[in-house]
Amino acid sequence: MTAKNEMKDVLGDMDCGRILYDEPMSLHTSLAVGGKAEALVFAENEDQLAQIIGKLSEHRKKYFIAGNLTNVIVRDGGYQGAIVLMTGFKDVTCEPAGGGKGFIYAQAGAALSSVVHLSITEELTGLEFCSGIPGSVGGAVWMNAGAYGREMKDVVESVTVLEADGVKKTMKRNEIIFGYRNTSFPRGTVILGALLKLEKGERSKIKETINEILLWRREKHPLDFPSAGSIFKNLPGQAAGKIIEESGLKGMAVGGAQISSKHANFIINRGGATAADIMRLIETVQSRVKKEKNLVLDTEVVIVGEDE
Ligand SMILES: Cc1cc2nc3c(=O)[nH]c(=O)nc-3n(C[C@H](O)[C@H](O)[C@H](O)COP(=O)(O)OP(=O)(O)OC[C@H]3O[C@@H](n4cnc5c(N)ncnc54)[C@H](O)[C@@H]3O)c2cc1C
Repeated sequence: MTAKNEMKDVLGDMDCGRILYDEPMSLHTSLAVGGKAEALVFAENEDQLAQIIGKLSEHRKKYFIAGNLTNVIVRDGGYQGAIVLMTGFKDVTCEPAGGGKGFIYAQAGAALSSVVHLSITEELTGLEFCSGIPGSVGGAVWMNAGAYGREMKDVVESVTVLEADGVKKTMKRNEIIFGYRNTSFPRGTVILGALLKLEKGERSKIKETINEILLWRREKHPLDFPSAGSIFKNLPGQAAGKIIEESGLKGMAVGGAQISSKHANFIINRGGATAADIMRLIETVQSRVKKEKNLVLDTEVVIVGEDE
């Protein structure tokens, strides 16, 4: 039996939203690389999601929850399992919190940009740092995304999750460990949404900060090419981009992938890159930086799937 048929057997008779079988992930990742997922599931609501995960677990099939796939490399051999997108989870609402504060509740699949937009409308400050990060709320919370000295941990009040065993619960901020681009959620946990606590602010000031950030990003980042943002984590007091540049690797290319000559911590797809091209560049950076500077660069980007 082929892998395709196996997943069809598992999910085929379920009413669980749109499912694409043997779907090239290069069509869905921000880096525009990646082999086929056995199944790409577009989950529409909690009931469907719980059913899908229950069924996958029952059949011992792997699953990977994704948001906008802006921080993920799927290897060229594809993903043997289901990649589940939080397509239907896009609601973003605002609630007063009193004391000059306000809450935004955002479902996991909502784009960070739509949450930032609501914060402008509602005159709530605190989320400006998210401007220009192309991810979803779920991805940002999972990664503890950050920029300009702030991270999701600074605004998260609580996170609602579906645990791997199907139990839904809301976790307070202090029940979650937020690290540098990682969190303590157990494997298999699905983030359903997050309550964000913000301060009352002035609309014009919020907009001004956002415009400054977006301008800075356009100047510094290679936004004209597909990428996954920063590939490597910074080291304490040392930016990975600077380390890579000092190691003489800026502009280096393998196949269609290149270490951006604009920002050395970005690997861009100049056209026709494969995940293998990107992995070769990652390995080259890691070995050169170890050799030249005796430093270890860990990836920030999440790498899944099998080699071809
Ligand atoms: C141009 C560009 C600029 C960027 N700038 C920044 C930046 O300034 N700062 C920064 O931190 N990042 C940045 N990124 C990286 C990326 O956008 C962030 O990490 C973002 O938070 C990822 O969100 P996503 O929805 O795309 O997550 P995905 O890439 O889909 O997933 C990332 C991880 O989160 C997990 N995940 C996603 N959703 C869920 C969920 N609902 N439940 C459980 N797990 C989930 C996935 O399993 C995976 O492990 C940038 C990327 C690009 C392309």
